[in-house]
Amino acid sequence: AKRDPGTSYRFYDRQLHITAGHQLRLEADLRNALRGKELELYYQPRIDLATEEVRGVECLLRWNHPERGLVSPEEFIPVAERSGLIVPIGYWVIEQACKRLQESAELGFPGLVFAVNLSFRQFHDRKMTETIFRIIFNANIDTSLLELELTESAMMHDPEYAQRCLRELNQLGISFALDDFGTGFSSLSNLQHLPISLVKIDKSFVQELGHSADAEHIIRAIISLAHSLQISVVAEGVETEGQLEFLRQQHCDEIQGYYYAHPMPWQDLVHFLTNRGQA
Ligand code: C2E
Ligand code: CA
Ligand code: CA
Ligand code: CA
Repeated sequence: AKRDPGTSYRFYDRQLHITAGHQLRLEADLRNALRGKELELYYQPRIDLATEEVRGVECLLRWNHPERGLVSPEEFIPVAERSGLIVPIGYWVIEQACKRLQESAELGFPGLVFAVNLSFRQFHDRKMTETIFRIIFNANIDTSLLELELTESAMMHDPEYAQRCLRELNQLGISFALDDFGTGFSSLSNLQHLPISLVKIDKSFVQELGHSADAEHIIRAIISLAHSLQISVVAEGVETEGQLEFLRQQHCDEIQGYYYAHPMPWQDLVHFLTNRGQA
């Protein structure tokens, strides 16, 4: 059949319309979510391969939407980024993580690292370091236990400003991890010139293990490069024994994934750590 450009255009237009409407609706809901108590952090343990101990947790944002239930960050983070709402949301996340960090010490889990994701969009905020400084000062935490995860896209808008933010925060004791390493615009010079102490191998590589020799080569190369620069490596998305064994053989430092634990609410994490005898 002959394609009717008119029809397909209208179809496309309607799709766009729905998407824009959906986006606006989500944005309005998200604004309420931040004010109300609909946002929550889940915590996914990161296991040290040498000691089998939980070294830290990644804090992952969840949205308990009153009608839609749990909304995935894959859906609402991009909306929050486009609207700029990720800036106040991002500060809320750091504040919440600092509270839990403080609490974890009181519960008898000292030395647990709390990793928080930073969006590239938060680097558009000229008061970023100042605000983060105020949050950690008020929370009175051991800053060496706070780690911020960023992707290399954070460096693209204004590399000089981003670098300055990293240096200033690093001077306060905060450390940095490069997230989704190996995807996108990985640049080796970032590893050398930024205060990065950890890289996270993207789960897309880990999940190709056993199916693609390339994935093996890439992971080996990342680990050896990182180690030669005194940078630790976390592999994310580890789901199987086979993946774990490969990573162990390659001297990957830590792993994170469903194989050990899914992201979980705070109370579940406390039980998880207690059961493992880490208290
Ligand atoms: P990410 O930073 O790469 O986080 C890792 C994602 O992998 C998480 O998805 C986690 O639940 C998932 N994951 C962990 N282990 C496994 C596994 O074994 N298999 C599979 N298939 N997945 C695993 P989640 O929680 O849905 O978060 C998705 C993304 O949303 C995050 O990717 C991050 O980019 C973003 N995000 C989450 N929380 C925040 C936040 O507080 N701030 C910002 N800016 N972004 C966030
Ligand atoms: Ca992350
Ligand atoms: Ca990732
Ligand atoms: Ca990601």
